[in-house]
Amino acid sequence: MPHIYSNISLKPYNTFAFDYAAERFAVADTIDALIFLVQFAKKECLDVTVIGGGSNLLIHGNIKGLVILNRIMGREYSQNAADVDVVFGAGEVWDECVEDSVSRGFGGIENLGLIPGTCGAAPVQNIGAYGVEIKDVLMSVEALNRESMKIETINAYQCGFAYRESHFKRKWSSKYIITRIHLRLSSLSELKLGYGGLAKVLSESSGFDDVYHKVCDIRRSKLPNPVDIPNSGSFFKNPVVSEATRERLVAEFEDLVSFKVEGGWKLAAGWLNEKAGWKGVKVGNVGVYEKQALVLVNLGDEKATELRRLEKTIIQSVHDMFGVTLEREPVLLGDSP
Ligand SMILES: Cc1cc2nc3c(=O)[nH]c(=O)nc-3n(C[C@H](O)[C@H](O)[C@H](O)COP(=O)(O)OP(=O)(O)OC[C@H]3O[C@@H](n4cnc5c(N)ncnc54)[C@H](O)[C@@H]3O)c2cc1C
Repeated sequence: MPHIYSNISLKPYNTFAFDYAAERFAVADTIDALIFLVQFAKKECLDVTVIGGGSNLLIHGNIKGLVILNRIMGREYSQNAADVDVVFGAGEVWDECVEDSVSRGFGGIENLGLIPGTCGAAPVQNIGAYGVEIKDVLMSVEALNRESMKIETINAYQCGFAYRESHFKRKWSSKYIITRIHLRLSSLSELKLGYGGLAKVLSESSGFDDVYHKVCDIRRSKLPNPVDIPNSGSFFKNPVVSEATRERLVAEFEDLVSFKVEGGWKLAAGWLNEKAGWKGVKVGNVGVYEKQALVLVNLGDEKATELRRLEKTIIQSVHDMFGVTLEREPVLLGDSP
């Protein structure tokens, strides 16, 4: 059974590279190990926090209780004519699975290439990029119910998926730990080239691998690699506003970037930040990435205090300028107020 460590630095386990400690820390590489760890935490009255790649976390303060690093592996492909049922272990690296699927000639997730993190966390915020979200191909997840200690299969339609949202991020965050995900891919899947300029450089006759590699190239040119510049990708969600708010903003800002979505208009948070003057701004050891105003970067801080201050200042300034409130995308962990 897994070793349980005490007082372990989480710096290597979050892509912001903030240095806070986990009171207890263990790696679960099998479902049995996961069950053992959750039972141990129950017995010791410890809170449980599950992390994957740490690429959507803002850790601010030490984490009390037991931090479990999910490393449950495994990839299975069952092909039935053009359709392929795929099962990935929650600890598998998402991008490696995308590349593997594409290289086998299976389409559906090629637009989601190079998103950091694990397969188990991908449904948590319904990862999305270039016009595709994981909910488009997700059939179900298997998850450990921490109350019953049973593995349950949860169908995709039950998961409350929305833009960067699911029940796993909210009401189920203390209930389920995802152990495996089930996707339906296809060798005949239609290419989605309508976003991010893909149609300019690819055509309907391109392969899934062409799309995957182009998406990776574009992402590498636009986003900082956390290994070089610690960050958690998009720091703010794109806000959705009413028709009336959009009209008010368009009257003042002709070049407002907005997209019609269910329930209103989605604004580009990166555009709002840039317009408010934040692109490339550095404040002490933190800042806003010079090529993309949606990404906050850690330029050398060990603690998140300065970054949280910057977050608040940006939210306030965008609100003052546009009357729109930005919401943080990464999950906040840690015991600092
Ligand atoms: C450079 C960069 C680019 C990014 N680009 C995108 C993008 O284009 N689109 C996008 O959607 N996201 C993007 N992200 C955000 C991030 O990569 C995704 O949200 C990813 O799915 C997080 O995976 P993770 O394993 O790192 O999760 P973690 O950060 O470890 O965890 C995130 C949340 O999921 C929970 N969790 C983790 N594993 C499990 C599990 N097995 N069961 C239940 N809960 C779990 C954690 O408790 C936490 O609440 C980007 C991040 C970076 C750094």
